[in-house]
Amino acid sequence: METKIKILQVMKWIYFITISIFIFGFWFIIQYKWSLYVMVGFLVVVLVLYFTIHLLRSKIYVYTCPKCQHQFQISIGKDITSYNAQIGGKVLVCPKCGVKEVMKAKPKDDK
Ligand SMILES: [Zn+2]
Repeated sequence: METKIKILQVMKWIYFITISIFIFGFWFIIQYKWSLYVMVGFLVVVLVLYFTIHLLRSKIYVYTCPKCQHQFQISIGKDITSYNAQIGGKVLVCPKCGVKEVMKAKPKDDK
């Protein structure tokens, strides 16, 4: 599990760098008339990274309900759409008792 978190961190960096290059690349595209394919290529990379990061997150982390202590995982869709209340915390609805609360993420095997 430790390695997966490392992979996730590395991927986040690659994602950040790719977006930076992409923004910087816009200038080059306008200035030097880069082909549209370069732009589309970047977009595809960004999208793939974005989904992979969220997929990894949904696989690695579990959330604990503060009310009933029920532990649960969320789907990739939920990971993308749910509101990030704080670093490592999301506003989620407990699947067991239905309470809506800020829940902290923690790695699955960390007990
Ligand atoms: Zn609950």
